[in-house]
Amino acid sequence: MKNKSLPVDLPQNLVSGLQHGSEFRHQLIPEETFCSECEGNHVLSEPIIITSRAKILTFTGVVEGISTYYKVCSNCRMMYRYQEFTDGIHNFNDHLLLSLHLCVILRNALQNHTAVSRVMSILEATAKAKFPSKDTVLHAYLHFEALSSHVYSYTCINCGYYPKVVIMDLHKKGVFSIPFSEIATPPSDFKGDTNIVSFWESVTMEMIGRGFLSSGRKNPFVVCPSYDCWAPWIGPNTRKSDIVLNTEHAKLQKTKSCDVPDLDVTEERLGDELFNLKVDAVRKLCKECGLDTKGSRMDLVLRLRTEMQNRSAYDKIFQQIWGASGGWAVITCPCGIVYSIKFNIRAESPRDFADLLLSWKHFPNVVIYDFARGLAAHVNLRKADSLPFSPHEGRLAEPTTANIQLAKEGKLKVNLPWLKNKKEEEDINCHPLTGSSEHYALYDRFHEFNTKDPRDALRRIQVVPELCGWVNTQTAEQLFGSMRKNNYFLNMLTPSGHTFLMRNIIHHYNTAQNKNMEDSLRKIVSPSDQLTFNGYGQIVLGTPPQSLNDSERHTCDITQIDQVHCPSQGSVIDMTALRNVQPNRACWMHPQSSDQIKMIENALNEKESRQQFLAQVGATILNRSDFITLGHPNDVEGTILNACLSMVRDIADLKNIKVNCFSSYVTVTWLPPLCADPSANLPDHIAECDFILLPSWASNHWMICYLHSNYILGCGKSMDVMISTVLQGRIGQIIVECLC
Ligand SMILES: [Zn+2]
Ligand SMILES: [Zn+2]
Repeated sequence: MKNKSLPVDLPQNLVSGLQHGSEFRHQLIPEETFCSECEGNHVLSEPIIITSRAKILTFTGVVEGISTYYKVCSNCRMMYRYQEFTDGIHNFNDHLLLSLHLCVILRNALQNHTAVSRVMSILEATAKAKFPSKDTVLHAYLHFEALSSHVYSYTCINCGYYPKVVIMDLHKKGVFSIPFSEIATPPSDFKGDTNIVSFWESVTMEMIGRGFLSSGRKNPFVVCPSYDCWAPWIGPNTRKSDIVLNTEHAKLQKTKSCDVPDLDVTEERLGDELFNLKVDAVRKLCKECGLDTKGSRMDLVLRLRTEMQNRSAYDKIFQQIWGASGGWAVITCPCGIVYSIKFNIRAESPRDFADLLLSWKHFPNVVIYDFARGLAAHVNLRKADSLPFSPHEGRLAEPTTANIQLAKEGKLKVNLPWLKNKKEEEDINCHPLTGSSEHYALYDRFHEFNTKDPRDALRRIQVVPELCGWVNTQTAEQLFGSMRKNNYFLNMLTPSGHTFLMRNIIHHYNTAQNKNMEDSLRKIVSPSDQLTFNGYGQIVLGTPPQSLNDSERHTCDITQIDQVHCPSQGSVIDMTALRNVQPNRACWMHPQSSDQIKMIENALNEKESRQQFLAQVGATILNRSDFITLGHPNDVEGTILNACLSMVRDIADLKNIKVNCFSSYVTVTWLPPLCADPSANLPDHIAECDFILLPSWASNHWMICYLHSNYILGCGKSMDVMISTVLQGRIGQIIVECLC
């Protein structure tokens, strides 16, 4: 069987819904005239009618009286049916066709958590007509998606194919019922290697096969869950190869002495989950397990936890909490784009996530998961020769009593600078975006208090300053929140239908999120800039660098970024990253861009809330009230000035130039009438600084004065120099020049 696929971007005129019933072609004849399989141009037969009573289902009703035809090759007997999209119709089974407009509506309805059956009920009630059965329409829609040439890239345009930080979570209410007894034990030599391509092709084939069935016949392509042929989805660029891991069969080995403590883990977690059940549900469970149903909720939970040691009680409790199958294991990047999904046949364990991560081409440097300890232990046990989670078994510091205590008090900080700027000297076997080969398994904010091991304090993401404010695990929670709204229809589907539609819905979700990110990027780059992708799948500015003549050698536009010079690094979202900001004298006189003007107008908009958050620099939060005190365009408010100076310091720091900035609130105290002693404000490291920056308010105007380190070394006199500099607002050259 050969399929004709649909383009990913259907022409807008075909999906606009402007075609009326009478405008559709009523005679649907396959376009082919020669057999595509046989050599030597074998002419196909004359069209043979299949039916003259086929129907086209549209958004406004049913178009009846459509004739469908097939042709046959006289040589190989291959049958050709009508499968064109250019008429705005999708042929499902020669008897039912959908308008492409309706297909796109169903797709968008699913993105908004509305099942195909609900859309059909709405249309039926509106058209006051009898529609084909809802199951048939659903199958027709799945057929449409299966024939669409989606790539299912599952990658974020910002993070690229190999995100350095990932968030993992379990969507545990996404389930289908499979009696465990019906899943065959895999062959004894099965090691967990599964061909991802052939598995998903077989699932897609099941969806397509439905279109070729005469009514009542069983689909020969049905895919049933099995341990040895059930694959996750990982995007083609992110996975190591087409052979990926699914070692769920190992969950069958229940011996407690086995090397990997899967079952213990699940029981422990299940026990924790019991506490989240409503009291009625707990009581019902007790009853089902033949336990005493009297007492407080705590009594009941404890009773159940004891009873869980017994296998049948365990299964009942498990089904109540997790449903029949083990839910979806999901890996996302910090932006919330889904990278991998795995439908668990059995209860979740760190094994499922380990299978996914070990199938990736590049193991992320930071993995955030609500059972980080279990994941690190499991992965390191499985890969004892390489111990992927190291140093410190994926903890941020050595688990000494002192470190644990510091972490608990929130005083431990471990910098991972390579998360922001790639290491110059790469480690062996490093991640390509960070140059580091360290791997950490950390807890996010929501789950860390569930943990019992005190050493887990060394797995908090708050310990890493580079992760604070960047990684927002709520993005993943929101994704799961919206996925839960699909359970009512996904959980009704067959296992293969469920997995197919889930992967498809998430693909459309990813595509829309990426589109949003790209659109917001286009707003901040100039219209002439081209966006393109680097070798790691990250979106970057693609315009070639302009040739600079001698007099301009040291100037480059502030919007020109590292990527322009080495297009293989960083993404354009990093454009405003400090390392990418270049000094440029030319920008002083540069007129503001329309976006800059818009941003200033927004910041100064008196009608908006004064408390609205506008920016954050280090620990300083700037809201509108900070900006609104701005008067004349040349003035700048003290807090904002300090924020700017701290950025100058950080930019210089990246270029290995040490700069000390004095706060504008401090320098003013050196002047009359306060005449405070500057030496009281000198930081310890002042002698190591190359420059000091002094904001000076002179002639009703802020100036930035700088002093070279020579002044500081000669002590004594330097205080006077500093004061007189500030006093006179004497400005030599601005710091940007020094940095060139
Ligand atoms: Zn032929
Ligand atoms: Zn991302």
